[in-house]
Amino acid sequence: MNAFDRKMEPQEFRSYARKWLAENAPPPPPERLPITPIEVMTVPQRDYLQAWQRKCYEAGLIGTDYPVEYGGHGQSGLQRIANQELEHAGVPYLINIVGLSMVAPTIMKHGTDAQKRKFLPGCLSGEEIWCQGFSEPGAGSDLSNQRTMAVPDGDGWIVNGHKVWTSLGHFAKWMILITRTSTEHRYEGLTYFLCPIAGHPGVTVRPLIKMTGETGFNEVLFENVRVPDAHRLDDIGKGWTVAMTTLSAERGAAEGAGSAGSGFGDPAVTIHKLIELARGTKRGGGLAANDPVTRDAIVQRAILAEGLRQSAKRARVPALCDNPMRLALQTKLVVTEFDQGNARLGFEIAGAHSTLYKLDPRAPAAGHWPLAYLNSFGNTIAAGTNEIQRNILGERVLGLPKSK
Ligand SMILES: Cc1cc2nc3c(=O)[nH]c(=O)nc-3n(C[C@H](O)[C@H](O)[C@H](O)COP(=O)(O)OP(=O)(O)OC[C@H]3O[C@@H](n4cnc5c(N)ncnc54)[C@H](O)[C@@H]3O)c2cc1C
Repeated sequence: MNAFDRKMEPQEFRSYARKWLAENAPPPPPERLPITPIEVMTVPQRDYLQAWQRKCYEAGLIGTDYPVEYGGHGQSGLQRIANQELEHAGVPYLINIVGLSMVAPTIMKHGTDAQKRKFLPGCLSGEEIWCQGFSEPGAGSDLSNQRTMAVPDGDGWIVNGHKVWTSLGHFAKWMILITRTSTEHRYEGLTYFLCPIAGHPGVTVRPLIKMTGETGFNEVLFENVRVPDAHRLDDIGKGWTVAMTTLSAERGAAEGAGSAGSGFGDPAVTIHKLIELARGTKRGGGLAANDPVTRDAIVQRAILAEGLRQSAKRARVPALCDNPMRLALQTKLVVTEFDQGNARLGFEIAGAHSTLYKLDPRAPAAGHWPLAYLNSFGNTIAAGTNEIQRNILGERVLGLPKSK
């Protein structure tokens, strides 16, 4: 489905997106939404967000720069503008975060024409929710230690194994799945599939509860699950290479301007929320917003926010990027720690009231800051832990000696 009858100029597209969002912002959700899409738990939350994603898609704000024959709108180079306008409009996030930020770019790079036609339209519209089956009980940081086996069987494969920490697995129709197809080679023994999940025989999805009391991620068990060979992405034994495409897209998705669906939000919007909190919080007979220590702390965060904004701009100028991996790796690290620092400051500004959780009517900002703080630890682990990111940056970007 193509929302446009011709190629738009960037400024014209920005005006269109801004106007459309101002006129089409959805009504409030039927239930409070979690902070990011990976904590969406209930069917009313899902239905509301899926309807919103579909509307944005039909308006051309999602899949903007994907080819029309694969369900996109053929406006190459304009998705970034759509993302910025989605962030600035303060509208709900996009539920198919795994699909948009990881699956679609991976299928575009490694998929056959038939796979792109089959999988991309439903992924972009949000009709088909995707999850990522990479982590296992024994394979997290060491992703190549995959134990889930895929064994050839006629024109397909039989999969047995156990995935864990699968965000959105409980609503997913499809999973991007890494499996082991040979035990002889560690990396070349891996193969990547697009695997059916919801209602598929042999697949069991079990929710896991986080420290916030929310679910959102799951473990997924595979017992003699049949996957057609037509759902294999790229060649047998190429799974590691395909997984690296997915991971670089995932890590890049934390970049402010390109993160409409991530729930990380625009750094400037977060700073604004901190200012609002300080303006509404009493401190020493006045307001926290007038307290020099609080003001200084917020200004420090604002400086970091501006640094992030400039880095995101710099990432788009190849001549300013000495190493292609530096900004993507650095951004994941810095954005997740920036987010954690903001949540901690929110806690400090709210003072003793920050111990009130979201269901308490007296909780400042409806309990946003404690929830954001607890969730921020997950974000420093997801997509590869920040310790691992530091190792990779040190070794591959700075050229430091390899860790043992
Ligand atoms: C909120 C959230 C959502 C997630 N969603 C998904 C998902 O949808 N799909 C999916 O497949 N996975 C998902 N994950 C899993 C995530 O990718 C893993 O948790 C992560 O890769 C770390 O793996 P692990 O949990 O097995 O920890 P481990 O690898 O066991 O690491 C434990 C600790 O040891 C440290 N460590 C390990 N090796 C080294 C080293 N060489 N040097 C220094 N420190 C090291 C780590 O940094 C960490 O602190 C999610 C995780 C979170 C928190």
